[in-house]
Amino acid sequence: MDVTASSLSPRRVTKQIAVGSVLVGGNAPVSVQSMTTTKTADVEGTLQQIYALAAAGADIVRCTCNDAGAAEGLAQILPRSPVPIVADIHFHVEMALAALDAGVNGLRLNPGNLRKPEEIKLVAQEARDRGVPIRIGVNAGSLHPDIYERFGGATPEALVESARLELAYFEEVGFDNVKISVKASSVATMIAAYRLASETFDYPLHLGVTEAGPPPAGLVKGTAGIATLLAEGIGDTIRYSLTADPVEEARAGRQLLEALGLRERKGLDLIACPSCGRAEVDVIAVAKEAQAALEGRNLPIQVAVMGCVVNGPGEARHADLGIAAGKKRGHLFIRGEIVRVVKEEDMVAALVDEAEKLIAEGVDARLAARDLNAQKEAEADRAALLDAKGLDVNHAGERIAEIRRRIEKEDAPK
Ligand code: SF4
Repeated sequence: MDVTASSLSPRRVTKQIAVGSVLVGGNAPVSVQSMTTTKTADVEGTLQQIYALAAAGADIVRCTCNDAGAAEGLAQILPRSPVPIVADIHFHVEMALAALDAGVNGLRLNPGNLRKPEEIKLVAQEARDRGVPIRIGVNAGSLHPDIYERFGGATPEALVESARLELAYFEEVGFDNVKISVKASSVATMIAAYRLASETFDYPLHLGVTEAGPPPAGLVKGTAGIATLLAEGIGDTIRYSLTADPVEEARAGRQLLEALGLRERKGLDLIACPSCGRAEVDVIAVAKEAQAALEGRNLPIQVAVMGCVVNGPGEARHADLGIAAGKKRGHLFIRGEIVRVVKEEDMVAALVDEAEKLIAEGVDARLAARDLNAQKEAEADRAALLDAKGLDVNHAGERIAEIRRRIEKEDAPK
């Protein structure tokens, strides 16, 4: 059974906006965002990072616009960027206007620190006249003090109220080219805030758990919040906020959407068994070797590395391609069908070779080209391993006999 997007709650349809060439909301695919960590004034360094982020899966990249040098940098970055660029604005209205002058594809305003109504409306007017969207980026950590006080803290209701007030200013000047985020570092608060935002607004929602921290905990927090909402049909664009190379954020975002079936697989999906007492190889080492050998070859397939031939091919029968270890040999399988048996030391090379042929020729052609003896050889290896280890790795038969002997001894008349 294909447990993917069709098994999730239907996506809530929001108003669609365009961030440069990327559509957000409506029935557009959920997009991935990340943010550069370079000084935006460093045009070459920032562009290098933008290219790396785009290659890792980012559809939209945000850069800070915090001074005149950054705004000038944006003007030079824009025409050379492979993806739309959003300028991140805090505190300074003139930086928002300068970013618009630079030609950015979107702005992010934080209502918590750009507070004067006349300034907010001025930016909205300028963005309206240029057709540039704005994200109302509410953040629990920098909520407007009045709202914080009114709600007794950064509650989900307070975050949504902050967005609603900002929207009211925008609406006063006829601006509705908007997406909204209501981020918090608490996963539970963030989930509740987005659920409420989803009931309150029909604008697209940008999901994220803010300040999630370094991986792996940051990845777990980001995934817990973002995936929960996406599974409920909430969310149009996502960003992981990790204390790490932003390439990891972009990669995680893309991988999450692919795992949920919300985006087509663009790259390799390597799965591997967790290994157990049956494993005939060091599964972790072989999986790492396979990942390194296959990554970067642009192979949009699922590849399985399994520790034993007894259970491996069956457990990974949904994978496009896989290898299972047994008796110093590897069983290469396509969709669970054994196609070749290779020496243990050739396992990874055979996997790479078959992966490339699979992409070039397709599953049916590669199944037709299988080694006709492979199935028989594989069966022999499997039988030999079962013989050696038995189906019962816990040796239950011997243990039960020993238990019975002990009980009989204790029950015997003294
Ligand atoms: S595939 Fe084999 S080695 Fe891997 S977890 Fe399953 S039984 Fe254990």
